[in-house]
Amino acid sequence: MARPHVVVIGAGFGGLRVAKGLRDQPVDVTVIDLNNFHTFQPLLYQVATAGLDAGDVSFPVRGILRRNPAARFVLGAVTAIDLEQRHVVVDHERSIEYDYLVVAAGSVSTSFGVAGVDTHTLALKTLHDAIAVRSHLLSRCERASAAALDHRDVPELGVVVVGGGPTGVEMAGALRELFDRVLDKDFPELGLDHVPIVLVEAAIRVLTPFDASSSTKAESTLRARGVEVITGVGVDLVEHEAVVLEDGRRLPAGTIVWAAGVTASPVASMLGTELVRGGRVKVGSDLSLPGHPEVFAIGDVAASPSKHDTPLPQVAQPAIQGGSHAARQIIADLEGRPRTPFRYFDKGSMATIGRNQAITELPFGLRFYGRIGWLAWLGLHIVYLIGFRNRLAVLVNWGWNYLTYDRGARALLDRAAESDGDPAG
Ligand SMILES: Cc1cc2nc3c(=O)[nH]c(=O)nc-3n(C[C@H](O)[C@H](O)[C@H](O)COP(=O)(O)OP(=O)(O)OC[C@H]3O[C@@H](n4cnc5c(N)ncnc54)[C@H](O)[C@@H]3O)c2cc1C
Repeated sequence: MARPHVVVIGAGFGGLRVAKGLRDQPVDVTVIDLNNFHTFQPLLYQVATAGLDAGDVSFPVRGILRRNPAARFVLGAVTAIDLEQRHVVVDHERSIEYDYLVVAAGSVSTSFGVAGVDTHTLALKTLHDAIAVRSHLLSRCERASAAALDHRDVPELGVVVVGGGPTGVEMAGALRELFDRVLDKDFPELGLDHVPIVLVEAAIRVLTPFDASSSTKAESTLRARGVEVITGVGVDLVEHEAVVLEDGRRLPAGTIVWAAGVTASPVASMLGTELVRGGRVKVGSDLSLPGHPEVFAIGDVAASPSKHDTPLPQVAQPAIQGGSHAARQIIADLEGRPRTPFRYFDKGSMATIGRNQAITELPFGLRFYGRIGWLAWLGLHIVYLIGFRNRLAVLVNWGWNYLTYDRGARALLDRAAESDGDPAG
């Protein structure tokens, strides 16, 4: 009998877990991704702020799949899905048939309809985004330095980060360290330790998924370190070099980072099945699509069921655990066993604010702040990184950064990123 063919869309946290869970099983696996590398998104802000190199937070997919002789990789964008004929189309031309399909295409940054976001802000969702933010920051400083030396008007250098979730909090804290400890020494003529870094959050507190006491701790730490935190007011619109708040305040900024949220990947709508809030795919208790037991949707792209009314959050653990679950369901089918419902185990949440400061919330109400929280954050991120080389590289870079207060990844790879002076490059 022919071996069933499992097609996995996306080599992110969820998709790679599916491939891992099917290793040594009597199935052929094809993983399709837009990129030939997996991105460890939780550390993108470190690439954006010159703490790590792009190669430290990415890993070649073929290298990961090498351990599974029955797995292959296809580089390309899935552009259509035919649930009836059971095939997916890659790059509008190549058709790949499946017996099982796992949709793990993640999410994309969204403007939530706020005017000016697409043209005047930088997102932080992909490795390209992170490098673009870094290039923008560095080239803007270079331009300001040239202006200062030539006695011309120095361009605006302040940064506004929109979105007070873990990404925004981590980005704002890391930016303050970059400006104060590194760029201020690189560009002494600019006084960069006084440049405003502002974090804007529409909710009444930052880190809303965390306990209120953790939010208070995060806000006070950010403020103590020199980040201005504005909560309880949304962004009305974004202009060239300014963020306009709903209360009329106008925040000038040379760089605007949009970390306000994500929506499901457009791959979700290719299924033609029911989507819920945020464009996420509605799935049943076993994570398969209603009426299509051979198709699973997991991770950010799916509305994975939780114990509460709302779906699981779009973070790494639901994707990882969902990937393992989908693989187990496929194996159960092959072995003639009944499927089981997905049970999510909440391992807690973390956010770092910079050197020696992190918020770590673990199950059973355990909370760690300050250095202990930070060490827990460091340890867990190293454990979840893929590949020994990446772990070692990150450890060495972090050790170096910690001891010297320096950030080595300051190569300006794309000077054009700042050519017109607009925050979006
Ligand atoms: C800056 C940032 C910081 C974060 N920090 C944390 C954190 O600290 N802790 C935490 O738990 N979570 C964090 N997250 C969220 C976490 O990274 C995601 O929840 C997780 O990556 C979701 O996994 P996934 O497998 O669903 O999708 P992803 O990991 O995003 O993978 C989706 C894959 O699908 C591919 N793809 C998309 N469209 C197509 C297509 N049309 N064809 C082919 N391939 C496609 C993409 O290239 C990608 O490789 C962070 C996210 C970001 C952006």
